[in-house]
Amino acid sequence: MSTATDTAVPPPAPSVPPGIEVTAVHRSFGTVRALDGVDLVARAGAVTALVGPNGSGKTTLLLVLAGLLVPDGGQVRIAGHDPVTDGRAARAATGWMPDAFGTWDSLTAREVLLTFAAAYRLPRAVASERAAELLETVHLTEYADRPASVLSRGQKQRLGLARALVHRPDVLLLDEPASGLDPRSRVDLRVLLRDLAAAGTTVLVSSHVLSELDEMADDAVFLSGGRTVHPHELGGAADGAREWRVRALSLEALTTWLDSTGTPWRPDDAGGGDAPPGSGGVLLPVAGEVGAAQLLADAVRAGVPVTALAPAGGALERAYLTLEEERR
Ligand code: ADP
Ligand code: MG
Repeated sequence: MSTATDTAVPPPAPSVPPGIEVTAVHRSFGTVRALDGVDLVARAGAVTALVGPNGSGKTTLLLVLAGLLVPDGGQVRIAGHDPVTDGRAARAATGWMPDAFGTWDSLTAREVLLTFAAAYRLPRAVASERAAELLETVHLTEYADRPASVLSRGQKQRLGLARALVHRPDVLLLDEPASGLDPRSRVDLRVLLRDLAAAGTTVLVSSHVLSELDEMADDAVFLSGGRTVHPHELGGAADGAREWRVRALSLEALTTWLDSTGTPWRPDDAGGGDAPPGSGGVLLPVAGEVGAAQLLADAVRAGVPVTALAPAGGALERAYLTLEEERR
């Protein structure tokens, strides 16, 4: 995809929707440089993780993208629109789920959605159908006509998500959406975000808890002290290689075989519990399930006594730890 960044005139009707493009964005609060030169691209049709410790600028950046905070400098494009100079078009394209739900307690769940639908000028009949559909999607149908004040934190999070989706936005911004969700709701969130991405939506989702995003994100952007540290293409669900953990009764047989086939590997520090002496494991890049099946078949054919083969947890987590090491 060709990326249009600083051109004065945007290219006409690009064949691939532009998603989110951020160039050199700055924003200070007094002397605090909350954003200190952020560059970011989030592709349409993908889930991009915005990862960083507390205070790294995630919320500030998302507020800028949502058009709720004007940056001091730099460029932002949301589905091709500038939220500063073309706020109306940018807002119409954007769904925003803040980290806290806010004070809507006197309205029912359904009324919250209808209020937002009205703000986006959806016709009444369309709006009530859409509200019912979204309540179903986030499993809140039985709470539809009860005041939002009775909802638990997790349920409020889900209502917040439904609210962000009312107008079928091209770009979805979510600030720590998984916090407060129980494991079941977290899986639902992942499935929903994957479905939206598959339908072409640009999804940017922040978290300081890495494990929340590892399974759902295609790409990741790391923030540290208001700066983009470096984007990682994750070999996740989609196509690329991610690391797998391989254990064998004989570590030596395993590594000798890997070396003989020219396969890169690194030692696996995780212990094997009550593993017999001489056994052990390695980590190596494997191209998905198909690659794993091939690796196992080859290893068995070569007589390597493999005892376990599984994806190593957390591509994002490893990238994050690398990042932490670099900061020391
Ligand atoms: P994150 O969401 O990654 O935890 P934030 O974007 O909330 O980080 O904050 C980034 C930095 O900006 C922090 O140092 C925070 O204290 C500061 N900050 C954020 N919002 C404000 C504000 N409204 N006024 C003053 N400082 C702020
Ligand atoms: Mg935050």
